[in-house]
Amino acid sequence: MKKTFIDGASRLEFPTPPPPAFGEVVQIRDGLLWARLPLPYLVDHLNLYFLRDGAGWAVIDTGIRTEEALAAWESLLDGPLRGLRLTQVIATHFHADHIGLAGWLCQRFRAPLLTSLSSYMTSRVLSVPPEEAALRSQAAFYESHGLDQATAQFLASGERDYPQRIGPLPEGYSRLASGDVLTIGKRSFQVLSGDGHAPEQILLYCARERLLFAADQIMEKVTPNITFPTGDRQADPLGHFLRSTGALCATIPSDVLVLPGHLRPFIGLHWRFTEIERRLEDRCALIRDACRQRPASVAELVSILYPKQGDPRQIGFAFTETLAAVNRLIRCGEVTTIRQGDRLLQATSVCAA
Ligand SMILES: [Zn+2]
Repeated sequence: MKKTFIDGASRLEFPTPPPPAFGEVVQIRDGLLWARLPLPYLVDHLNLYFLRDGAGWAVIDTGIRTEEALAAWESLLDGPLRGLRLTQVIATHFHADHIGLAGWLCQRFRAPLLTSLSSYMTSRVLSVPPEEAALRSQAAFYESHGLDQATAQFLASGERDYPQRIGPLPEGYSRLASGDVLTIGKRSFQVLSGDGHAPEQILLYCARERLLFAADQIMEKVTPNITFPTGDRQADPLGHFLRSTGALCATIPSDVLVLPGHLRPFIGLHWRFTEIERRLEDRCALIRDACRQRPASVAELVSILYPKQGDPRQIGFAFTETLAAVNRLIRCGEVTTIRQGDRLLQATSVCAA
């Protein structure tokens, strides 16, 4: 274990070596390796973790299906991981950057895929090109919340490209569910699940070594995206995120080494969750204040919460985050939705009166 230092801006500790470059591997513990794959997003990498499993290795997460990610895998397999034998492929959740190359890896190594029911089934649905009627319905939904037609159609059509990011999945998988115990080599993991970023996201906790593979449930610096379960626009993913992360923190001590899906492993689980909670509450407070002044569409609230957002792709993320906060406030009885023609507006009892 390398020296521990504390980030000046936070109370997190980062006790691992610096992150590996693409094609390189870093050892975190005996039988625990860390590598990274490139991503075409603002957070430009995904963490892969390899756990020794008898004569082979289990891998946590797989990467997105792009030429760059495949090239980085080949660099690993031709370089520091030459001769690798994969015994298990664990996908933490259905997002393409985590499960996109599961089919390719499972086929190449004849290894089983382990993931949650929600992750597997959602990926199966999203790996099929969407029907035009579904895209039109999605665009109409965006417009009803105040986005202009061009932006609404741009965001809806983004779903057309999604299947390309996920290769064909294995026909079968092995389900991981909260409460299971998963043995990998000499280590034993409690299977936990988080929600809100993705339904039934798999986290693995090794109490003996105080390791928590946390996927995208909790990370340094970045507040996890809150996303909607496929097909459920009335959902309360922000409530699910707060509840499930709070429950994790109630059962796991704060001094565990958190190994997230992106950015650096860190110690300081409870402090980090408190910070994230605060940021999410700030969003809700801005919406409450805006709706007290006058009824506002989700699109208008996006421009209050994310005033500098210009890139339509980022507006998509901002829209989802804002709608998640609105739905939370609706569940709490602080905001209601009123209809004005084809448009839906959010109002508090003060401004609706
Ligand atoms: Zn994710």
